[in-house]
Amino acid sequence: MSVINWAICPRCKRLLEQKYNVVNEKPLASYGKIQADDCNKAVMELDHIRRDEEEGLRTTMREDCYIGMDETGVLTITYHAYCEVCGFESTFNQQETAET
Ligand SMILES: [Zn+2]
Repeated sequence: MSVINWAICPRCKRLLEQKYNVVNEKPLASYGKIQADDCNKAVMELDHIRRDEEEGLRTTMREDCYIGMDETGVLTITYHAYCEVCGFESTFNQQETAET
C-alpha cells in the first residue's frame, strides 16, 4: 500500500518563525518612539503577511509512504519526505520478517 501526501516542511516552518521573530523586534524597538497606533498597524500588517506565507508552506513537502508484506512474510515500511523549497529530506526504512 503506497500513499503520497503533501505536508508542512518542518525546516521551512522553523525558518519562517525565525524570520518573523527578528522582524517583530523592529516594531517593539520603535515602541515609545512612534505613535502606538502606527506600531499596532505595523504589527497587524506583519501578522497578515506571515499568515499568507504560512498558507504557502502547506504543500511544499512531499511524503511517500509504503507499507506492505510480501508472500514470504517480510514486512516493509518505507517513508521519504522531500521539500521542494528548501531541500529538506528525511528517510525511514524498516523490514521485519513475520513468523509464518
Ligand atoms: Zn522546506
